[in-house]
Amino acid sequence: MSATPIRKQYLGIKRQYPDVLVFFRLGDFYETFDDDARVVSRELSITLTSREMGRGKRFPMAGLPYHALDGYLAKLVNRGFKVAICEQVGDATLARGLVEREVVRVVTPGTVVEPEILDHKKNNYLVSVVQDGPEAGIAYADISTGEFRITQLPESALASELDRLSPSELLLPEGPTADSTWPAAPVTRANYLADDADESERVLLEHFGVTSLESFGCESLPLAVRAAGALVGYLQETQKAASGSLAGPSTYSLDKTVVLDAQTRRNLELFSSAWRNEVEGSLLWVLDKTCTPMGARLLKEWIGQPLFDLVELERRLDSVQAFYSDGITRSRVTKLLSKVGDLERTSVRVQRGVANPKELIALKRGLELAPEIKSAIEEIGLSHLTWILDRMPDCSDLVELISCTLTDDPSTAVGGGGVVREGYDTELDKMRNASSEARGFIANLEREERRKTGIKSLRVGYNKVFGYYVEVSRSHLSQVPDEYIRKQTLVNGERFVTPELKEFEALILGAQEKVEELEQAIYRRLCAQVAENVNRIHELAGCFALLDIYSCLAEVASLYGYIRPELTEDDVLHITSGRHPVVERVVGEGVFVPNDSHLAGAERQIVVLTGPNMSGKSTYMRQVALITLMAQIGSFVPAEKAQIGLVDRIFTRVGLQDDLSTGRSTFMIEMLETARILHMATPRSLIILDEIGRGTSTYDGLSIAQAVIEHLHNDPRVAARTIFATHYHELVKLADTLPRIVNCNVTVAEEDGKAVFLHKVAPGGADKSYGIQVAQLAGIPRPVIDRAAQVLQHLENGAGSKQGVAPVNNETGPWQMSFFSLPPETSPLLNELAKLDVASMTPRDAIVKLYELQEEARKSRSST
Ligand code: ATP
Repeated sequence: MSATPIRKQYLGIKRQYPDVLVFFRLGDFYETFDDDARVVSRELSITLTSREMGRGKRFPMAGLPYHALDGYLAKLVNRGFKVAICEQVGDATLARGLVEREVVRVVTPGTVVEPEILDHKKNNYLVSVVQDGPEAGIAYADISTGEFRITQLPESALASELDRLSPSELLLPEGPTADSTWPAAPVTRANYLADDADESERVLLEHFGVTSLESFGCESLPLAVRAAGALVGYLQETQKAASGSLAGPSTYSLDKTVVLDAQTRRNLELFSSAWRNEVEGSLLWVLDKTCTPMGARLLKEWIGQPLFDLVELERRLDSVQAFYSDGITRSRVTKLLSKVGDLERTSVRVQRGVANPKELIALKRGLELAPEIKSAIEEIGLSHLTWILDRMPDCSDLVELISCTLTDDPSTAVGGGGVVREGYDTELDKMRNASSEARGFIANLEREERRKTGIKSLRVGYNKVFGYYVEVSRSHLSQVPDEYIRKQTLVNGERFVTPELKEFEALILGAQEKVEELEQAIYRRLCAQVAENVNRIHELAGCFALLDIYSCLAEVASLYGYIRPELTEDDVLHITSGRHPVVERVVGEGVFVPNDSHLAGAERQIVVLTGPNMSGKSTYMRQVALITLMAQIGSFVPAEKAQIGLVDRIFTRVGLQDDLSTGRSTFMIEMLETARILHMATPRSLIILDEIGRGTSTYDGLSIAQAVIEHLHNDPRVAARTIFATHYHELVKLADTLPRIVNCNVTVAEEDGKAVFLHKVAPGGADKSYGIQVAQLAGIPRPVIDRAAQVLQHLENGAGSKQGVAPVNNETGPWQMSFFSLPPETSPLLNELAKLDVASMTPRDAIVKLYELQEEARKSRSST
């Protein structure tokens, strides 16, 4: 059976893109066939039809209108699909037989440029990774902004760097799979280049039109070059001509940055809250008051990559201070910045030839704000910002170019005559006039013909088949003049053309065609001229991003009462009246209790922090880490005074979480993370450890906790500033013998036997756990609380250590009768209770479970 030519053409293209959904342009639709059609129909809820494509055989087909492409693409790409856009490339009107078609672009999660799909506050990174022995190369690009960066790093630093980049798509050589410690992202294989260093180099040299990689500073980074070659090769394959919009790679190093691993980013809730996994409740949520997309993206980058570089940080703090001390200029500048728009992404769209005239006008509006922003800052002489003003390129020529070419409010479609400004091109003006004069003539013609013929109902109309015509109703046909040529008979009348009408029609159509041609050519030329200057636009966008961040951090500081931290290169952390930036916003103004923190390598290296659950230990420890981190991105901090000796790494081990994906137990994960910290910490690091050892039996846990503290104290290679929160009150005794350990506790008052949390950190160890009081606050029934108090007393009297537990109570109270008297196999609740591994649960998990069980119990009681 022979397939139709179109089926053959489709299959030829599909064969080249077997793992990609092929969107095949047929007139005003993108059609998908066969299995692709089934997927598209299912994912997009589009009707699955079929089409006859050879000897009566029908094939599944699902199509979508071409103008609705972006919305559908967004859905598919967000679900991890890749889509090949196959366009008609030949002129359908000229083609004899089948019009030529080719894939112009493959859209993948890492190569999206559509503003509808992208989050303007986030970069969209395609990341290529090559590993070889102890080293790895990374190349990453955001093709929507043109950014392209590469580095080579030890394999041990790879996971946290990938976590920082949070890739939308990972490009890996054939063979190795993504490591389970890497962030989850769709993986694409790129074996064709990554194995071959010479070939990668050749691709890069050719793509960027250079003779040596020296200009990119990567000549001695072979793995980075391989990763970059694979990335560029992939973009050439998927983006075709548009891959040219990528900037040359710039090399970066992690030397002067603070190492944050994935757990620490999560534990400190930098970008999303742990509970709800959304921006609200994160550090970004508190700090992000940026008003440009470039500023928002850069702020996110800064938070994820604090600096270990005193000079640069002082420069950042000076710049924040400049805006902090002048609220009027700050609000003037932010008002102007909020009108700037996404210069970075729009200019890349211009470069790729996909920006419409309205976007170009928006770009111009952004560019023309530069002098105003500059003079607002210059006027009051904010000397600390001069370095940014000096870097701001002059783009007035581009503003002028766009203004004199385009109308102020152009239509989005090029070719209709409403895009280019009058007076810009005489030929275009002439054609536009000719076209409108001819239209005017035709409009007058109706009046004129009515007068000449005396037919009042005569009408001039237009349709696609006959063009312009004169319509006369049946009752007046006898009055039709001889020169009218009959074209069509209708039920109620006839349609005619006249030689004059045809002449003007030709004029209109000719002029329209010419207008379309000229306008498109002018627009293309304008885009090309703007595209040539894309680097300059990006430079300006970069300056706007900096001004945006500095004014944003100053705004946050003044709104929330932050102060400028004093940065040093000593190993101290002295914070007076520090606050947790996020919790203080959540609990409300004036409610948060500020606390001091004093750590210093030489005398107060380790703080052992005790205090009951819910007293605020985690909040306190995170607050110290967050204040340090904020200082090291160049922000002011929530405190009355802060002296921060720069840290090179921040480690956090908090909370107990099972890693279901890898099947590792809570305790195993805890130990793996602790091991990592003990291997990688340095005397310049900051370590936050929350209840190490709690995932195992008391004595095991206590022994491990004590050994970890001793190691951090005694081994000079890992002697980091540390806060160690614990429930093991025994650890308080360590301070008696180890000189650089101090005890602190979060104070709790007792009123009528109930715990009142003061959230105040005081010197000394806690003398009591208040676990039972917390259980009472959480709603544990009174009999259980009373019994727990009895058992506690027994244990505290020393009896527990010999017997293991207090004498068992087997009395049944009235409230428990029906529940516990059931045989276990008939009570699902009892079964579930028996299965719980209480020893390895956190108090919070235990309380949550208890609530669940209670809920179940109540339900079953009300149903019986
Ligand atoms: P657990 O050991 O159960 O994790 P914890 O001692 O670490 O408890 P946190 O989770 O830090 O306690 O704090 C419990 C709650 O107490 C917080 O959610 C917050 O609402 C409140 N809180 C903590 N610190 C303060 C503070 N300094 N001022 C006001 N409220 C606070």
